[in-house]
Amino acid sequence: MLILDGKAVAQKMKSIIAVRALEFAKQVGRKPGLGVIIVGEDPASHVYVKNKEMACQAVHFHSIRLQLPSSTTKEELLQAIQKMNQNELVDAFLVQMPLPPHLSSEIILDAIDPLKDADGLHPINMGYLWVNRQRVAPCTPWGVIKILDHYQIPIKGQSCVVVGRSQIVGRPMAHLLTMADGTVTLCHSRTPNLREKTRQADIIVVAAGQRHLLGSDDFKKGATIIDVGIHGSGQGKGVTGDVRFSELEGHVAAATPVPGGVGPMTIACLLENTLILAQHNKNIIIN
Ligand code: NDP
Repeated sequence: MLILDGKAVAQKMKSIIAVRALEFAKQVGRKPGLGVIIVGEDPASHVYVKNKEMACQAVHFHSIRLQLPSSTTKEELLQAIQKMNQNELVDAFLVQMPLPPHLSSEIILDAIDPLKDADGLHPINMGYLWVNRQRVAPCTPWGVIKILDHYQIPIKGQSCVVVGRSQIVGRPMAHLLTMADGTVTLCHSRTPNLREKTRQADIIVVAAGQRHLLGSDDFKKGATIIDVGIHGSGQGKGVTGDVRFSELEGHVAAATPVPGGVGPMTIACLLENTLILAQHNKNIIIN
């Protein structure tokens, strides 16, 4: 079984981004800047934000963190977003999810300037994605496309199943696979006989958020498995996915591990989105 090493592919992407960031700094007089707004004390979110900041440092970006208490009101958060929208040093930013339950992620996403939307989740950017004219794409599904591309796993003409229909992963994933000429079935918690569908597919992307939901019996021999799920502390140790990875050897052709598969690709795509928006907003081209 071929291990689809997201960490290595992400490292390769980051090396290219780092060179471009230095060129950006030369032309603009400052590093590209990625902002993060984090609300509350969710430990996993803090680990994710720290990882993003370390990734910024490694590619010569500067990072700007706005940390707010979990008691933050909608108005206070919208003000913080406006600060990021107006901050000249911030080329792109994101609001770390999940938010405390009293804050609606939809209202928050809508307030982000689409030209500073590092995650590619603003409705305007999702609309561009849907008509295949995207400047930036949601990081996780875009990272999946990149990893398949890196390992030259063909999508064209393949039967693809996506498990999960969330706005940030499943739905854009199904769209990107469709645009890459895959024949896609999008499954969710109301799909009857999920396993019948996954067993027929050549490529299965699992993003259900259910630890160890699927194993080797659920896939046909020779399939490619992409496990988006992350369960655990978010710190690498004891982290597992939606797929029972240890069962796959000798049965499927290729699979992403957790950790070290889709997770690092998501961060690399976030950096890439930031650089794309930075260049666009400063009207410069770096090859
Ligand atoms: P959501 O909870 O928003 O969506 C989960 C989706 O899976 C829903 O559409 C749900 O169906 C479907 N689902 C749940 N249970 C089943 C089931 N038993 N059978 C079929 N479908 C099911 O999750 P996200 O999309 O945000 O994230 C999914 C997973 O990916 C999580 O583990 C998350 O931590 C991880 N993740 C990893 C990232 C990375 O960088 N690797 C980035 C983002 C997320 P329904 O719509 O009917 O409820």
